[in-house]
Amino acid sequence: MSVPFLSAARWPIVGHEWAVSWLQQSLLADRFPHALLITGPAQVGKRTLALATAAALNCQGEPKPCGRCRSCRKVAHGTHPDVRLVQAEAGKSGREGILKIDQVRELQREAALAPMEGRYKVFILRELERANLPAANALLKTLEEPPASVVLLLTSVRPHALLPTVVSRCQVLALRPLPIAQVAEALRTRWGGEAEQAELLARLSGGRLGWAVERLTDGRAWEERAQRLQDLARLLEEGRAARLAYAEALSRSPDAVVPTLSLWTSWCRDVLLVQQGLQAHISNIDLAPALAHQASRLPPQQVVDFLRRLQAAAAQLNQNANVRLLLETLALRLPRPAQG
Ligand SMILES: [Zn+2]
Repeated sequence: MSVPFLSAARWPIVGHEWAVSWLQQSLLADRFPHALLITGPAQVGKRTLALATAAALNCQGEPKPCGRCRSCRKVAHGTHPDVRLVQAEAGKSGREGILKIDQVRELQREAALAPMEGRYKVFILRELERANLPAANALLKTLEEPPASVVLLLTSVRPHALLPTVVSRCQVLALRPLPIAQVAEALRTRWGGEAEQAELLARLSGGRLGWAVERLTDGRAWEERAQRLQDLARLLEEGRAARLAYAEALSRSPDAVVPTLSLWTSWCRDVLLVQQGLQAHISNIDLAPALAHQASRLPPQQVVDFLRRLQAAAAQLNQNANVRLLLETLALRLPRPAQG
């Protein structure tokens, strides 16, 4: 059978052309897998791709997904009765929430029913690494004997943390960060970003378009970054008491913990790049003058040590670490400018 050439541009997806093309071919050949596992870094486009796939599976127009039919519009608005989004509840104190067995059982009850409007019942399970063991085992049953018209679209940032038996029953699509130039172009042409800001956000995003779009369209996220950078610059000069006070305050706003640590991480990498004479490769290009100043005053070994601690802290946050203690230790280990 010859497969007509299809343009990935018809899908509402920037980049990931190979994945879109694979999905199109599977739909066209009518051999869509019962379970798809979409992996990749946070905000790289996993959920967007899953939603576009859900729309394509139930689209009543051509080419699929048409984006205009009743079904496509319902998927876009989150109101399609046959397309369900299942995700972990919000976590507390900077920790990740958990996907529980009750949520999987609910999914199984619904999966046993015929689709109401569409051709398929589609379940999008986000952040599957957050499923606890009972939930993952329950899900395994559905993966082993999937009801005929059910498609499971699973997403995960940490596929290595999933049960191998779950992964082996899925077709895996591993998304990678997009080229920085592609992110910058999309920000300019699709989201109306200014050239300079698009370039900065694209670099900061590390190729994760969702991250960049969020900062472009949500002024608050951008202001928060500016505030955190100001706090960081101040903390470098501060002593023990002020650093501990900052850590304590931060531990009381759980939503701010991860963004703050990831900003510190990108700042650290940039300081090291400048110290190695690689200014052209920094991410925070709007901070170049401040970074040059800081890089000249901070002992490189302290910056390296701090970066290592930050990387370890990111992992510890997902285990049952004491968040306040963790932040206090980090704050005390922030590099200190050399005196004199
Ligand atoms: Zn449609």
